[in-house]
Amino acid sequence: MLTDSFDRIHDYLRISVTDNCNFRCSYCMPEECHSFMKQDQLMNAQEIEALATIFVKRGVRKIRLTGGEPLVRKDFDKILQRLSALNVELLITTNGSLVHKHIDSLKKAGVTTVNVSLDSLKPTAFEQLTKRNVFEQVWLNILMLLENGFRVKINVVAMRDSIEHELFDFIELTRNYPLHIRFIEFMPFAGNSWSKNKVITAGEMLTAVQANYDIVKLKDEPHSTARKYKAIGHEGTFAFITTMSKQFCGECNRLRLTAEGKMKNCLFGKDELDLLSALRNGNDVEELILQSVQSKHAAMGGQFEKGYQHTEATQLVNRSMVSIGG
Ligand code: SAM
Ligand code: SF4
Repeated sequence: MLTDSFDRIHDYLRISVTDNCNFRCSYCMPEECHSFMKQDQLMNAQEIEALATIFVKRGVRKIRLTGGEPLVRKDFDKILQRLSALNVELLITTNGSLVHKHIDSLKKAGVTTVNVSLDSLKPTAFEQLTKRNVFEQVWLNILMLLENGFRVKINVVAMRDSIEHELFDFIELTRNYPLHIRFIEFMPFAGNSWSKNKVITAGEMLTAVQANYDIVKLKDEPHSTARKYKAIGHEGTFAFITTMSKQFCGECNRLRLTAEGKMKNCLFGKDELDLLSALRNGNDVEELILQSVQSKHAAMGGQFEKGYQHTEATQLVNRSMVSIGG
């Protein structure tokens, strides 16, 4: 088992399959010339399978494919197919724009839950956020996922002066659709112009929702970062991911692999270990994985010790979100 020095067992691996993306969300992809990794820097399908197999051997039971946008990768279906043989829970986080081309392969690989990111229900605001005019396609794809029996979670990055206009629209969406909306507090990464003033906390959003709806607290899944609620009588649920205002590091079971095969033991950590080079050179990958797990900080990669209100984005050392893999 992958147990760290705080007795946390790590059984969940998030693999970024590319740092490329067909959207340009400013909170994720830095505007100033984000240059994508070259093809030979990326793990190929076989290497992803080989590294994932080592993690599985050491106790990983759940793998999420992410990016960048995982579905822009030409051999995505092949990667999925290889990982489906590993006998783990397979998940994907996507911007939803290309889902219609991969529905069959998601089904074939046994994926049952798909997380789709959608920050606005208004086509114009959607285009401003993503710099792409494809709201309609994303919405149709969400419906397609539901029609095909997938459980669909909707990730909404909640930013002050923006989410306030649509908070209730998202709650309304759960009235007739069995969708699971997750409001994510805005997090700081390289180049995303984060400031504490742009963070709207889960507490603030919850107070606003409570004033307008009768809601109940639901049981949270083990290790889940989301605090779940339901408006009474609605088909779907909503939740808050409180990374900034109330951290959940004590229960963390996650490890990450970037698209070029660097292992990160925390989303906010600056330390990385190059598993892909080790694999290519025939070195001991398992030993590096254990080393990385052992060196994991107690919380927030050791970088937010005083809480987000006292954090200066410029003092944090990390990559952009798009190149980590969210
Ligand atoms: N392209 C896919 C997508 O958009 O779902 C997968 C990669 S994206 C980096 C993964 C998740 O990270 C998305 O739900 C996105 O909204 C979220 N994300 C990106 N930057 C963020 C930030 N600064 N704060 C909070 N969430 C963020
Ligand atoms: Fe692309 Fe997802 Fe980042 Fe938006 S959040 S730029 S869709 S990787």
